[in-house]
Amino acid sequence: MSLSIQVWRPDTCGCVFHQLVERDDVTGETTITYIDEDEAQLLHESLYGEAVQSGKNNVVDPSEKQQRPANVCKSHGRLNHKKDKALFDAVLDENRRKNRSFAEVEEKLLAGEIKHNAVKVTTDRDGRKSLKFEDGYTPGDFLAWEFDPDTRELKVDYPQFSLTDKAKLRAR
Ligand SMILES: [Zn+2]
Repeated sequence: MSLSIQVWRPDTCGCVFHQLVERDDVTGETTITYIDEDEAQLLHESLYGEAVQSGKNNVVDPSEKQQRPANVCKSHGRLNHKKDKALFDAVLDENRRKNRSFAEVEEKLLAGEIKHNAVKVTTDRDGRKSLKFEDGYTPGDFLAWEFDPDTRELKVDYPQFSLTDKAKLRAR
């Protein structure tokens, strides 16, 4: 089992978290858990044998040697979140919901339920299907998403698709 500290900056808001990453050296499986900054600091010292350089609210990311304080973004601050596991869980849930919306677009493209002329479905020898995006396109072009800054409600749109396909995506 190898341990490391990881800084997570989700793409769904400006919060920053420290995480404990436990990696099983045999299976390669990783478990990621929330740790607070004090725990991260103690762990850092025991793993890397060096104290962090500045105040107690800072933890060094050993991969980049930079100060990365944990942070609560404006949106979550307005909702009275603190730097704790409850905030971590809330942000993780938001991130998963956004990723799930991406997955739904991909699943419907793969299943042929919706179509776009810049996306091809290819099938390999084992019958596994995958999506091939034409040059200049990325998966990110097929889902527009934002979180309402006050309610943190996820709003998604599908700018690349026809009205019929949009309706199918909304009907999920
Ligand atoms: Zn946030």
